[in-house]
Amino acid sequence: MVDFEYDLQRYRRKMDEGFKNLSFSPDMEAEYVAQYFKRNIVKQRLALCISTTLVLLLTPFDLEVLSGGPETFYLVTRFMALLPILIIAFAFTYNPMAQKHFQTMAFTMVLAIGLTSNIFVAYANSMGQPMPSEILILIIFIGFLLAGMRFRQSLACAVVLFLSYFLLALFYMPMHFQIMHDIIFIFSSCLIGGATAFTLEYQTRLGFLQKGALRSAAKIDPLTHLLNRGAINQQLDLIMDLAYREQKFVTLVLLDVDYFKNYNDSYGHIKGDNCLIKVAKELSKGCRRSLDFAGRYGGEEFILAWYDTKPEEMIDLSEQIANNIRKLNIPHDKSKVSNLISLSGGMVSGIPSATINSQVLIQHADDLLYASKNQGRNKIISFTFPQEEIAEKKVLAS
Ligand code: GH3
Ligand code: MG
Ligand code: MG
Repeated sequence: MVDFEYDLQRYRRKMDEGFKNLSFSPDMEAEYVAQYFKRNIVKQRLALCISTTLVLLLTPFDLEVLSGGPETFYLVTRFMALLPILIIAFAFTYNPMAQKHFQTMAFTMVLAIGLTSNIFVAYANSMGQPMPSEILILIIFIGFLLAGMRFRQSLACAVVLFLSYFLLALFYMPMHFQIMHDIIFIFSSCLIGGATAFTLEYQTRLGFLQKGALRSAAKIDPLTHLLNRGAINQQLDLIMDLAYREQKFVTLVLLDVDYFKNYNDSYGHIKGDNCLIKVAKELSKGCRRSLDFAGRYGGEEFILAWYDTKPEEMIDLSEQIANNIRKLNIPHDKSKVSNLISLSGGMVSGIPSATINSQVLIQHADDLLYASKNQGRNKIISFTFPQEEIAEKKVLAS
């Protein structure tokens, strides 16, 4: 059965447990990553634009510093490798297939830009031409905050870039005071960027859980925890679409508690509420498959819907409902049809078509419910939309 209550509890439980390791259970993580990408795609495009602009802007200055050095190597790596990769990556952000691997690409790209930049800085410094290392700080911040990577990947990137700079400085750069200064600055950037990225991802994950909980709560009736009216319409449309495509039967029943006003008057509203909760729980047991659902249609009215049920099954379904409610054994001494709580219902079954849509099914079920009330209550009247236009009505359960 469609179970938004289960979803709600899942999100709430995770919020209570906390997620300091920045990870969820595999299915929730997959849901989070899909949403995360959608939200970060603009940031990733921005990161790619900034990186491309930086490469273009810095090239003349770098060439100046590198003059007499490995200018050709520099130009080849920048213009024949890095720039085309950045442009292709930008185009990939528009391709749904490539989007799946974008985290890996972002990781590789930040690492590639950072490592080549470190190599050039080290080379220039070893030649006695001081080249600024601040670009690495910028790259680390792009990695943490703009590249759309999750915290762990960004941290791994930053650590590799910091260590590579440290090792290059150790082996290839003259060890003067300025280098130590640079290393301390780069290390601090990793710490500050890391702490900020961690907080951001924690908040994003929290927002994801809160939104998920809200979304699920908005579909649940607070008293009975069945689907509310809005969710019923949505879910019914969904199974009708599917049944239309697959040419399967959808069966639905509208049920109404008999003489419930009298019940409230006799036992009070609190007992009335408890009675509705018990009825709802019993009814929901009738919908076990993933697309089936039970909802509270309004006050003391309920709806059950089943995807892919044969019309012959309607007798069983309605008898099951009547039996389960009878077994609840809730006394109702002000009912005129039984001394226990009972329901009246209208059940319809049909394959969706141009003329049979969700509104038509509900309207028909409502008419049959009305007929059931007029014919003495405590019974479910059913109707199958035939292939031929012959209607057959039967009193199935009483
Ligand atoms: P019928 O057999 O024709 O359906 O008679 P009825 O009394 O059940 O129908 P009616 O529409 O006259 O009254 C419905 C009652 O259901 C009135 C309302 O107070 C009660 N009701 C609706 N929602 C709730 C609820 O959430 N809690 C409680 N306790 N009562 C409710
Ligand atoms: Mg009613
Ligand atoms: Mg009623």
